[in-house]
Amino acid sequence: MQSTLLSRFTGCLIGEALGDAVGELAFSARTRDLLDSEVEKAELLRYTDDTAMALGIAQCLVESGSVAPEPLGRIFHANYSREPWRGYASGPPSIFARVQAVGIKYSEAASALFGGRGSFGNGSAMRVAPVGLFYHKSPELYERACESAMPTHTHPLALDGAAVQAKAVALAIGLPPGGAFSPRSFLEALEGFARTTEFRSKIRLALDLILSGASDPDAARTLGKSVAVHESLPFSLYSFAKYPASFRECIYCAVLNGGDRDTMGAMAGAISGAYLGVASLPGEWREKLENSVLFSELAASLMHNLPLS
Ligand SMILES: [Mg+2]
Repeated sequence: MQSTLLSRFTGCLIGEALGDAVGELAFSARTRDLLDSEVEKAELLRYTDDTAMALGIAQCLVESGSVAPEPLGRIFHANYSREPWRGYASGPPSIFARVQAVGIKYSEAASALFGGRGSFGNGSAMRVAPVGLFYHKSPELYERACESAMPTHTHPLALDGAAVQAKAVALAIGLPPGGAFSPRSFLEALEGFARTTEFRSKIRLALDLILSGASDPDAARTLGKSVAVHESLPFSLYSFAKYPASFRECIYCAVLNGGDRDTMGAMAGAISGAYLGVASLPGEWREKLENSVLFSELAASLMHNLPLS
């Protein structure tokens, strides 16, 4: 049982990184054949800011057993300073610079963005998977996911998006990977967990698109594929719920239909990896992933330090 859970924790973190890295390649290799040959040619699969920030959350949970915004902000900041080339959007670096210059809290700097409304970009959801793992049995899952968003994203949609993605990971961990998967049960559970009308209606729409047999490009256009969290996370949920049995098909769906490809791959990959376990992720992709030992070590540390439920 322990080894099964470990395989799914590891699958989640490595799945996130692979979806991110393969999604990044899909910005230039936009068909399945081109993408396969790009992956084959690559010596190393490099992940981007999405996974770097997810690693920061895992690190914070292992070090402190929490995702309190200030310690987490300091870890994000330090990791960004060490690897600023990971493809960060403009929000986090501007927050880090302001904190450094003025000495305010990360969450204060974050809430001042966009005219005081805070960001509703998908940055809070793209990195939240370790919160879904760590609190998968906890009644505090929603609140802890929101806390992990606060150092950079304070808009209600960003908080709800983080919570929905964390819940998707937590649900995936609890489902038997060989059993019958019901897109309806999975997506209706998420719809019930979401607190904003935007997410509730988009998750319902994702289910309707799957049940009505819509094409993947049509589903991506209908659900959205932008950097806004409610216009990208729903298509990642769709990609997993439509292709639950195959990590590869799930990722192709998430990254080959345009838009914010690396982040949609990262979000779908974390859920699929948590559901299937690390051994079901493509071996030739895993072999090329940079820092893969670090992912396995963090997954084991997270699992051994779970909060009492
Ligand atoms: Mg990225």
